[in-house]
Amino acid sequence: MTTKQDQLKQLRDRMEQDMSLPLRNEATQLVFGEGNPDAKIYFLGEAPGQSEDKQGRPFVGQAGKLLNTLLERIGMQRADVYISNIVRFRPPNNRPPSAAEIAAFLPYVNEEIAIIQPLLIVTLGRFSLAKFLPTDKITQVHGTLHTVNWQGRPIHVFPLYHPAAALRSPEIRSTLEEDFKKIPSVLEQLKS
Ligand code: URA
Repeated sequence: MTTKQDQLKQLRDRMEQDMSLPLRNEATQLVFGEGNPDAKIYFLGEAPGQSEDKQGRPFVGQAGKLLNTLLERIGMQRADVYISNIVRFRPPNNRPPSAAEIAAFLPYVNEEIAIIQPLLIVTLGRFSLAKFLPTDKITQVHGTLHTVNWQGRPIHVFPLYHPAAALRSPEIRSTLEEDFKKIPSVLEQLKS
């Protein structure tokens, strides 16, 4: 039987070989998701930045450090969760990804979610929020649990502000910190 690890490896290999994926030529390398394949929580960010592009790992720059701190405060480590991005090649100069670029990566995001089967998807920022709740505004839905239809079945989504936005604004940072603290009770609620 193929393990989740094997399936993720195959998915990664397919992405490496998919020459139709945008942004490949401008980036150093593919930044695939990482973490526990059996994670209950799947974090979905936007796109790799400079540090991620260099190291080939998601959320390893300043935003990633904040994410690590927030995880520690709720008694978790990166190895307990799975961390990924919608777009897997760094957009030049960290510009926001275009709708077409996002669309090109979405089938792979869906496959990754199907392999991991997390109990909770935590979206980081407005781009990953838009994948699940396209008409909602992050200012209105952050820190609240939503159940949406995903590929014909219900999936639980907890939208958060992006840690990079929190690094730019003390208000957003304190909101992100408060919202993050709710994650353990949201998980408990979903397990019961
Ligand atoms: N911002 C993201 O959205 N993803 C990363 O991996 C790093 C910063």
